[in-house]
Amino acid sequence: MDVQTLTKPSVLILLGPPGAGKGTQARMLQDKFGLVQLSTGDLLRAAVAAGTEAGKKAKAVMEAGDLVSDDIVIAILKDRLAEPDTAKGVILDGFPRTTAQAEALDDLLDQTGQSINAAISLEVDDDAMVTRISGRYTCATCGEGYHDSFKKPAVEGVCDNCGGTEMKRRADDNAETVGARLAAYHAQTAPLIDYYDRKGALRRIDAMGTIDKIASDMGSIVKDVSA
Ligand code: AMP
Repeated sequence: MDVQTLTKPSVLILLGPPGAGKGTQARMLQDKFGLVQLSTGDLLRAAVAAGTEAGKKAKAVMEAGDLVSDDIVIAILKDRLAEPDTAKGVILDGFPRTTAQAEALDDLLDQTGQSINAAISLEVDDDAMVTRISGRYTCATCGEGYHDSFKKPAVEGVCDNCGGTEMKRRADDNAETVGARLAAYHAQTAPLIDYYDRKGALRRIDAMGTIDKIASDMGSIVKDVSA
């Protein structure tokens, strides 16, 4: 796919409950516009796998479906944002998730003279999220996302993107943990929709449609706020 160049580097935030499609859409925007996907969930899973101090603290919290402490997540995000590739523009996938994180992000961006182009809220029905999450898995090699019902690879067990044959499912993608993750979203993250609305940065998307329709709506927003 040709990468479409944006006139100005963008900071885009994807808001939405677990299962809304933030990761899938962030990857598509990354490929289409050359932006960098920055997923705090991925960064935390990497920290857990590497056995870092932050990873050790985060592991049990993530398994329970609760939110990792603001201090840990903000520190991880700050380190990642300091890496040079993020100058192309970033898509924040899963961050911020609390008002404290949103305020910390505002401060960080103030320091670098950047601002948020858009906070895109992926609007979905909670009931559908359990089904979406329970069926999902990714390629262990390249991270491409698949779903038992909605997005199967062309050849079963073989990644369309890289040909990898090892697929993995997340430890927290099970029915028990999904309930806790949805509750954490509504209690702590949903208020950010108002937070960004008040700043005039909020864009809403109906995220119950097909992946391609949502991607096309997202693409229009990105071009609109970054051209
Ligand atoms: P995700 O991959 O975005 O669904 O995140 C998986 C888990 O990582 C969440 O259920 C939280 O436990 C933790 N996590 C990811 N991002 C954050 C964040 N911004 N703040 C707190 N916890 C987070």
